[in-house]
Amino acid sequence: MSFKSVACQERVVELFQNAIRNNHLAHAYIFAGQEGVGKTSFSRELAKAIFCKHPGLDACDTCNNCQRIASDNFSDLFFILPEKNSRVIKIEQLKYFQDILKVKPLESKYKMVIIQSADKMNEEASNCLLKTLEEPPSYAIIILIVTSLESVRETVRSRCQIVRFSPLSVAVVKNILVNQFKLDNKQAERLAFISNGSIERATLLSGTHALEKKNWLVDRLLKLEINDNLTFSKELFNEWHIQDLDILEEKRSHVKELLFSFLMYYRDLLACKIGNDKLPIYHTDWRDALAARSRLLSEDVLFRILNTIKTSLEYLDYNANITLLLENMITKILHLQCDQRMSS
Ligand SMILES: [Zn+2]
Repeated sequence: MSFKSVACQERVVELFQNAIRNNHLAHAYIFAGQEGVGKTSFSRELAKAIFCKHPGLDACDTCNNCQRIASDNFSDLFFILPEKNSRVIKIEQLKYFQDILKVKPLESKYKMVIIQSADKMNEEASNCLLKTLEEPPSYAIIILIVTSLESVRETVRSRCQIVRFSPLSVAVVKNILVNQFKLDNKQAERLAFISNGSIERATLLSGTHALEKKNWLVDRLLKLEINDNLTFSKELFNEWHIQDLDILEEKRSHVKELLFSFLMYYRDLLACKIGNDKLPIYHTDWRDALAARSRLLSEDVLFRILNTIKTSLEYLDYNANITLLLENMITKILHLQCDQRMSS
């Protein structure tokens, strides 16, 4: 792999090819964009282009350096990521990061450190990072990978060049699923559609009976009634196997997927409502049922339900009690739907 293999991020590739050509690489970058759009794989390709034994605008991908970078075995390139089962970068890891940068590069003129989930750092770790960013050694190239730029402190942000990664198009995700993951056309297309431009989500979804679960949810939501409150949560937890997950992080990513499915269902209702059946929707197989359902709800209620789901998504990263979060969301949605029907 090299820059040539980077999907859909031509703007970013061009930016770095210019920087390499003009010898203008910055000391610190923030790579920002949603999960699964290729930020980490791009940073590896960038490392190859910088450290390749055949200098140029792209890596040769065959020399010893390129191969060692591909197998995580190059002495001037370091990755720092949250430890297993933790979502945050800890202060000890930032101290390690500082130690790495104190030592001059061994094999080239740069030393590159890539920090994953750099938006998930506590105050102490952030301060530690800031100290290095204030006076980086001349050979340092620091890359902070984040999904949310808002969660990065302004003092950190202002010392980095910000590089935004856009979501991948449905066609690109579909092609990757067909060519690299060998999925059949129809399945790849549906997964690409619900993956929100993220190849990571699409591949995750492909292995988890995601489509069946999503189909079940749409069928069930179409029949949802106010007195379903308690039973619906239980059904949901069973059908989506949320109970069975012991590891908090797994549970969190599972529930995140579920919330995205809720979001898409209600987005479809809104599209049916305001688009007179002409706006594109995700669940095309249910178009008539969705249109009928959307006539029972006002635009205002649909917006409020969508906001409720979005707020739950935001809380998900901070809330330890995921079950309660989900139950509260369902209760709120049911009340919003019911209030409207009583008043109409
Ligand atoms: Zn090379």
